[in-house]
Amino acid sequence: MNKFIKDQISQLKPSATLAINEDSNRLKKSGKKIYKFGFGQSPFPVPELVVNALKTNASKHTYLPMQGLEELRLAIADHLNKINNNNFNKEDIIIGPGTKELMFLMQIAFKGEVVLPAPSWVSYQPQALIAKNKVHWIQTTSNSNWFPTAESLENKIKNIKEKNLLLFINSPNNPAGTVCKNLEEIAKIAKKYRLTILSDEIYSHLTFDDQYKSISNYYPEGTIVSSGLSKWCGAGGWRLGFFAIPNQLKEFKESLKILCSESFTSVSAPIQYAAIEAYRNDHSDYLSDVKKILSFTGKYVYENLKSNLINIAKPEGGFYLFPEFTNAKFSSASEMCKDILQKTGVALLPGSDFGLDSKKMIARLSYTDFDGSSFLKSTSGSKKLDNADLKKNAPNIVDGVFALKEWSNSL
Ligand code: GLU
Repeated sequence: MNKFIKDQISQLKPSATLAINEDSNRLKKSGKKIYKFGFGQSPFPVPELVVNALKTNASKHTYLPMQGLEELRLAIADHLNKINNNNFNKEDIIIGPGTKELMFLMQIAFKGEVVLPAPSWVSYQPQALIAKNKVHWIQTTSNSNWFPTAESLENKIKNIKEKNLLLFINSPNNPAGTVCKNLEEIAKIAKKYRLTILSDEIYSHLTFDDQYKSISNYYPEGTIVSSGLSKWCGAGGWRLGFFAIPNQLKEFKESLKILCSESFTSVSAPIQYAAIEAYRNDHSDYLSDVKKILSFTGKYVYENLKSNLINIAKPEGGFYLFPEFTNAKFSSASEMCKDILQKTGVALLPGSDFGLDSKKMIARLSYTDFDGSSFLKSTSGSKKLDNADLKKNAPNIVDGVFALKEWSNSL
């Protein structure tokens, strides 16, 4: 108990992803060799056209509408309608300083309880806690590609008294790097029980097989699509995200708008103008080069770690893997990660930060510790990648994976 701080706040710690990034940077600065596999940040530069748009708009200085710039909302609605076959219009879109803030405000507004698949991204649960929304976890396993089965979802819902439920689905997934194959079945259950779905599609453009599917296609009336510039456009630090909210859920949009107006006011004007170019233009060459590098790197890490001692699901999108060290014997996954960091310099995040039992010896590995600009420059276009490219452009990935494998073999 703290005299000045609310109980639900005083039990929080800094977000695990940001903490591991700062810890890794500090250790690196102190001269230690660190493999930064803890933080999930795109290593690639923002496309030049979008950077130029930001330069051109640097002098834009007025506050913008609380829901976001109209031209940007239109560009996003058109973009979603084209790539996802959605039916959004500009009034359905709301712009925020990253989707994290919009999710936070959504939790503040939401009256009901939250259903999270375990594993899930580190901030969904703390945000629910701050907003005093009860959380129900659905434990998943690698057998269902780290997503809930329709059966496990239905069983969970039947056991919850509260009828107003908010379900988070995140495909491609953080932390597992897997793609949900049973969206349609999940959507059926969601429809049956009238759940609201928050579909976190921040990694959608980084789906390796090009067959991205959004759950909003199966349950448009109950799904809020959440995405932004951070991952596909290499612009995490620009802080620009959006929600696309169907008309049937417009109360959420109206409440969010008010909460935006009472918190951050509106997202930085130059960033919003630049984002119009990000959504209006075709970036398929850039994205195909980025995906080529990510899928090759992910496959390299997967193939070099996978063994009878390390279980790991195949990378299908985004930039994470979720290895389980079956012969590791530590009191918790967090202790295991400390041991790995101390002995090898490899920074990982424990599976428990993502809602798994701390006794499960699982960790998240982000394979982004390389200079994306030079990797792109030397491999863009039709060139097929090989291990020599990886060694030259991503030496920390090669060396860090080797160190991790040696650590596992030494147990
Ligand atoms: N989403 C990224 C991660 O999971 C980092 C950004 C964040 O957590 O706010 O590592």
